Amino acid sequence: MQFKYLIPTAIYFEKHCIENQSEVLASIGEKAMIVTGKYSAKACGALIDVINALVKHSKEYIIFDEIENNPSVETVERASQIAKLNKVDYIIGIGGGSPIDAAKAIAVLTANPEMGGIDLFQNTFTKVLPIVGIPTTAGTGSEVTPYSVLVRQDMQTKMSFGTVKTFPSYAFLDARYTISLSSSATINTAVDALTHVMEGYLANRSTSITDALALEALGVFRRSIEALVKNDLSLEDRENLMYISLLGGMIIAQTGVTLAHGMGYCYTFFKDIPHGKANGLIMKEYLKYLYEVSSNKMEQLLKVLEYSNVNQLIDLFTELLGNAPQLTKEDVTRYTELTKLQKGSINNTPGLVDEKVIKELWEKMS
Ligand code: NAP
Ligand code: FE
Repeated sequence: MQFKYLIPTAIYFEKHCIENQSEVLASIGEKAMIVTGKYSAKACGALIDVINALVKHSKEYIIFDEIENNPSVETVERASQIAKLNKVDYIIGIGGGSPIDAAKAIAVLTANPEMGGIDLFQNTFTKVLPIVGIPTTAGTGSEVTPYSVLVRQDMQTKMSFGTVKTFPSYAFLDARYTISLSSSATINTAVDALTHVMEGYLANRSTSITDALALEALGVFRRSIEALVKNDLSLEDRENLMYISLLGGMIIAQTGVTLAHGMGYCYTFFKDIPHGKANGLIMKEYLKYLYEVSSNKMEQLLKVLEYSNVNQLIDLFTELLGNAPQLTKEDVTRYTELTKLQKGSINNTPGLVDEKVIKELWEKMS
């Protein structure tokens, strides 16, 4: 047995954790930039909780609330200019994966004024402002991963960066914040978390410790499937989903993701399909591939989910997400070329993934 396991993030998971841990949140620096999207941080109550915590301890803050879904390099550059002008010394990301990923990029660009946004992807920076992640979706686990996924208009896809320095220093998880999610966003983000767990479990870089986390997450997911399908989630179900999302983040922080995520970026970029749904749609064909190349682990995974064959799991994805969009021959060619750029995900996928395998998967999806 051999593994390395590193999560340098202090994790607080409880209802009202911002209020209860306000001293911790306020101790990180003197002036924070709060990074959010337009609406949800206010709607779910997280923003006001953070403001109250900072005000209580006489800390200054500014708010940048212009993070779009699937944040772009240009947006994080703009936010970091404001952060530099205002001399902030830590960054608090509140939201789904988009604001938390953006917070990581802003934390790097603010600490390294000579850097441009494209330089992030070199992963050569050494200075980063402290980052705090406060999730309002139960999906990405970004609050405990070093990754930041940004849209690269120049490459017509999404690319990620991240080093050990871009792990958030603190993660505060309060499942109450996810109550305001629409049912489709709840499902899409839950599917993202599930794909992290499954991809991490099947990944070439999986280890015994990430396997243990994955089996725990799959068992908890089993208990919430019915509520998710019926769209009738209690706060306990929401806590379960947030816990699965956290575990998924802790897993992929070690293992990385695999081909499904590498392929899903095409659906998001060209078809505007939300991240979690994009990966879930890929799963329908990808799971069959995984069953061929890694049948032992797939059997184990199905057993914990209490399914007797892979088609039952595929049916769950269809029930939750509906069908994938039609693709043209040109789409298949273009998506195959772009998927080939996702080298990290490809190398992490079991079996021998070459252009033929990628193209065949896209053809089956079309
Ligand atoms: P998101 O893009 O952050 O947010 C999607 C939508 O949900 C936004 O319109 C947002 O509104 C809304 N929303 C968020 N929380 C809400 C709440 N509590 N109530 C009501 N609406 C809410 O969604 P996400 O799926 O969490 O994140 C996806 C991004 O994370 C993608 O860019 C993906 O590539 C990335 N990702 C990162 C990692 C990682 O390890 N770093 C892993 C997986 C995915 P507002 O715009 O108003 O905020
Ligand atoms: Fe994801």
